[in-house]
Amino acid sequence: MRDTDLLQLALGLVPPWMVKATNFDAEARRLDIEIDFTKGGRFPCPHCAKTDCPVHDTAMQTWRHLDFFQHQAFLHARTPRITCPDCGVKQIAVPWARPGSGFTLLFEALAMTLMTAMPVAAAARLMGEHDTRMWRVLHHWVEQARERADYSEVRRVAIDETAAKRGHDYMSLFVDIDKRSVLFATEGRGAETIAKFADDLEAHNGHASNIKQVCIDMSAAFIKGVTDNLPEAEITFDKFHAVKLVNDAVDKVRRAESKGRPELKRTRYLWLKNEPSLSARGRRQLAALTTLHLKTARAYQIRLAFQEIYQQPTRGWGALFLDRWYAWAIRSRLEPIKHAARSIKRHREGILAWFDSHIANGLIEGINSLVQAAKAKARGYRSTRTLKAITYLIAGKLDLRLPT
Ligand SMILES: [Zn+2]
Repeated sequence: MRDTDLLQLALGLVPPWMVKATNFDAEARRLDIEIDFTKGGRFPCPHCAKTDCPVHDTAMQTWRHLDFFQHQAFLHARTPRITCPDCGVKQIAVPWARPGSGFTLLFEALAMTLMTAMPVAAAARLMGEHDTRMWRVLHHWVEQARERADYSEVRRVAIDETAAKRGHDYMSLFVDIDKRSVLFATEGRGAETIAKFADDLEAHNGHASNIKQVCIDMSAAFIKGVTDNLPEAEITFDKFHAVKLVNDAVDKVRRAESKGRPELKRTRYLWLKNEPSLSARGRRQLAALTTLHLKTARAYQIRLAFQEIYQQPTRGWGALFLDRWYAWAIRSRLEPIKHAARSIKRHREGILAWFDSHIANGLIEGINSLVQAAKAKARGYRSTRTLKAITYLIAGKLDLRLPT
């Protein structure tokens, strides 16, 4: 068997394509394979599929292919334009690469597999490519897979924001609670992000009125966005955000009080964690502080009681417990606590909705930490576009349909 025949088989070339010549340069660590079509070769029209169209002209192109052992491999071919009697002059697509790419499909498949598992820069180093070119590959496959995605079955959605870049840029994430996958990621954190999500849903075979349950934080923007754009959705306020609201109030009380009580300095974490997750030393310290008639200790007791709402057996018991908690908190004479209590009271129905829906944003927190880790490894993605693409790739459960 001649080496050109071997390569022709390995590349899976079918007539009229064939390997014309090879050049192996051990010193330059590269293998160049020249592919050509047989003289007088004819091609089907890419537009109307009419067979046997004659070649109009050709242009030389190069693609990087999978490495040949430790050597980089390149394919070269003159790609033809044909003349179709019905459609005129048309560009022919080669079977080993997609139009416009400088890589073969198999090279791109390997690149995508690596980029799913490691930061883009690391994958680029491993493959000996510039990461700008790797990003171009990633964007193509992610965008194509997302275009195909079908959202007709989506019923329950968790919505949360995440820091997009350093500073004040935010990205909102929309997660399918049942499939545990990111449906949509978009800049900002206002009501308009939910309008954009509703549009994206429609573009993917879904419908805004299909959404029956959403989990959000208590921000007015998200509430308005859901009310305006997802007419059938019942709102559950995320319990982690609700607890955090009360936690933040405890910390405000502590910070104000610590001005006159130095023993409260640097004790923030003691009051924010739940007791079982503290160290033995932390527990002793907390126990000692709680005997000192501190405002912070009172605020802390109110915070502990708030969490117990979620341990009630039914929505009815939850409601009873919440109202009693509110009565206690509002008489606490602790301004931050009273402020938090009023906010909880205003969002009472959505907080109690948890007893029926049992949905929370813990799932998004997990996805968020994956995205943030990927972002950190890439030393901050240059744009929200790249951050969105990596989010879809890591957490979108996309069907990439990579060539094999
Ligand atoms: Zn045609």
